[in-house]
This record gives sequence, C-alpha cells and structure tokens, in this order.
Amino acid sequence: MNYVSTRGAAPVLSFDDVLLAGLARDGGLYVPETWPEFTTAEIAAWKGLSYTDLALKVMTPFVGDALSQGELAAIINEAYSHFETDSVAPLVDMNDGSQGGEYLLELFHGPTLAFKDVAMQFLGPLFDHVLAKKGARICIAGATSGDTGSAAIEAVRDRNNVDAFILYPHGRVSDVQRRQMTTVDAANIHTIALEGTFDDCQDAVKALFNDLDFRDKHHLSAVNSINWARVMAQVVYYFWAALKVGGPEKSVAFAVPTGNFGNVFAGYVARRMGLPISQFVVGSNSNDILTRFFNSGAMEITGVHPTISPSMDIQVSSNFERLLFELFERDGARVADTLTHFRESGHFNVAPDILAEATALFDAARFDDDETRALIGELHGKTGMLLDPHSAVGLAAARKLRRDNDVPMIVLATAHPAKFPDAVEQASGVHPALPPHLADLMQRDERINVLANDLDALRAFIEMRVSA
Ligand SMILES: *Cc1c(COP(=O)(O)O)cnc(C)c1O
Repeated sequence: MNYVSTRGAAPVLSFDDVLLAGLARDGGLYVPETWPEFTTAEIAAWKGLSYTDLALKVMTPFVGDALSQGELAAIINEAYSHFETDSVAPLVDMNDGSQGGEYLLELFHGPTLAFKDVAMQFLGPLFDHVLAKKGARICIAGATSGDTGSAAIEAVRDRNNVDAFILYPHGRVSDVQRRQMTTVDAANIHTIALEGTFDDCQDAVKALFNDLDFRDKHHLSAVNSINWARVMAQVVYYFWAALKVGGPEKSVAFAVPTGNFGNVFAGYVARRMGLPISQFVVGSNSNDILTRFFNSGAMEITGVHPTISPSMDIQVSSNFERLLFELFERDGARVADTLTHFRESGHFNVAPDILAEATALFDAARFDDDETRALIGELHGKTGMLLDPHSAVGLAAARKLRRDNDVPMIVLATAHPAKFPDAVEQASGVHPALPPHLADLMQRDERINVLANDLDALRAFIEMRVSA
C-alpha cells in the first residue's frame, strides 16, 4: 500500500516511510492511496476473533508488504500484552432499554488509562522493528497537554533506537498526568516542564522541526495524532465493537468525544472499509470548533478555553484535514488552498452540498463543564457507574443526537475516571481509585526538569541528553 498527501504535492511513500515521516513535506497528512474494502461476508467471518487476531485482519491491507504477516502479528501481540484485559477494549451494556441498546466501549485499560494507549502501545514495537531493520534511530520530540505524553513515554521507554523528549506546560497538567511522565525511570525518556502554556510547548516543538539542521542531525520524529499508524491502530476497535452488537449484518452508530478528530476519523475509515455505520456523533467541550462546523459549514478559530476535559482543549482539529480531502473528492490542491487560507484568516466555509454530504453521516453537539458534571453525577446516582469528563461528553452527545433507537449506539469511553479524579469527585462525590498498577503513583519519585521557554536552552538540553 502506498500513501499520498492530503495536499497532493509530497512524495508518495510506503507504510514504513509514512510511519517515520509523520507530517508530509507539503504540510499535508498521509492517507492510503485507496481504501481497502471488504464485503459483508468477509467482515462477518471475523466474528469471534480475539482482539489481536482482528487487528491483524484490519491492519494487513494498510501495511502491505512493509511487514510480513508474522512480523505484524508479533508487533500486535506485544502491543496488546500490556493491557489490563485480553479483550483490550471491553464493551459494557448500559441497559438503557432502547431497542438497539446503548453501549460503552472502554478504551482506557492500557498502561496510562487513556485511549491513546491503544495506538501508542502499537507504535512502540512498530518503531523498534522498522528502525532495527533500517539500522536507524530517531529522537521523538512532542508537546503534550497530558495524555499523549504519558502514552508515548510508556510506549517507547527503554527502547534502544529511540530517545523521547516530551514537553508539558509547567504547573498546568494534573498531578496524575504529570506523575505518569516524571516517575518513569528510563535512560531514553526526557521530560521537560516548560515555563509556559501548552501552546508555547507546541510552538517550541514546531520550532525544533523547522530548524532543519537540528532536525536532520538528531532524526527528529513525531508521535502526535497526525501519524497515520496511530489512526490505523484505532480503526480496529470500531470493527471490534460493531461485531459484538450485530454488525456487519446490522448497522451501528458511534459517539466519540473528540478534539483533533483523530479518533472519530478512524471510525470513518472503518466505514470506508465496508463496516456499516449509519451515524457518527461528535461530542465537543466548550472548545467546539467541530460542532460549529457541522452545524454551519464554517470552520472558525476562536480562543482556547480550559475545561475539565483538557485533552480536548484544542483550537484547530488537525485530523479534520483527512475528512476534508475525502469531501473534496481527493483534490489535494483544493485542500491546500482552503487550509492555507484558513491559516491566514482563521476561517473557511464549505459549500452547502459539501456540508450536506458531511452531515449525512456526522452530527455534533457541545457540552460545557456544568453540563458534563451534571451527566457524571446523574449517571453515578442512577447506576453507580463513574465516567471521566471526556467520556461523559461523548455520552451526552449520543443521548442528544441519536437518530434511531433501533440502531445500537456505541459510546467511546476515552479515559479512566481516576485519570481526572478532581472533576469526577466534584461531579459525583466519589474519589475514583487508581487501578493496582498505578496505586503507588503518588508516592513514586519524580524527576522534574524545568526549562525556560527559550529555544536555545531547549536545544542545549536535547544536545546534552540525546544518546546518539
Ligand atoms: C486525546 C483525547 C481525546 C481526543 O482525541 P482526538 O483523537 O483528538 O479526537 C479524547 N479523550 C481523551 C481522554 C484523550 O486523551
């Protein structure tokens, strides 16, 4: 399988080169040259497979001949051996009494308690394999508002061919999030508490990538959600869940709390591969650029508001570019024009026919912190169940916008409630406990490296620490 850029002007690459490249050179995102398709009968034959065997079926066409079946299977098996349960992503029946049923797909049973582990745990051994084969090494530089950093660190700790430098805003991530990064004792992991905001962290990382000498010298690489391999790994659980509730013979619907549009785009890919999905419900917090788009056809940047679901506090949804490429019938030049204009002016509009095509499949709603807390409290009162604030936004959206009660509604639960204990306690009165493997997190030793928001200081820190 070859990959093309959404802006149409970057070299066509193979799977392993896309993995290492991250962003395309023309500023676009890589997508497969064609979507692999499966018939209903082919998908039906996957019922009853284990999560890892299903992952092998779903990923094989995307990987093409970059890896043998044995190599890919070994990477998948290593990736998901670090999850709390063999089922990787348990599906919980919410017993809402509707004909189709309402379900919660729990994606938070990985090492760092957020859905990002599902893709990152796969990325770790995949990097290892591809780098060893090429005799290469990389230096990952990433900015995090919390969840991506800890998931990336867990995925690449102690790997020989990788150094990771993870920047987070000093004093602006939760204690649990910070400790999941700063208590990891591995020689190749370097966390940086930058004196600034998350946007300063992102700008610093961008500046490193734009320093081409530095970038080439240290083989800088990215693990943010624009990396195609992360999207690919997320496609699997859409099949996994649908097959458990009557798919592919019956249609299903998904509700996804989203910021960067990465998670829900993976669902769109599953649909393109032949999985019958009749509706995607997008849930936003107060940072509602996507909800405003689906309700008006206008994409417009406003400021970022801090919320109790911080992993969705974003200004621009970077993965939306992949959907736009499809809506524009894969016209890369048109995507490039639109997004260049967007960067300059802060907004763009799509024509009514394009919006109609998008809203035939996607609905979206926004929930502020009060509404989110209210749902967490109400659910806990009625069922005893605790949801984290991100998952609660997804459930709220599902309940508001579900089109058909006969179609199973699957809500993606993206974080464990104990990852956001303060918000959950405020909403429900209950302090959620960390699972056993993290029970002593608050007692572990931390190593905190505070750095000024200064590019020279950052470069010097990396030069001093990098192993190659
Ligand atoms: C990252 C994250 C999200 C948003 O995911 P996108 O791929 O950006 O849509 C939602 N919930 C949690 C807990 C996250 O960590």
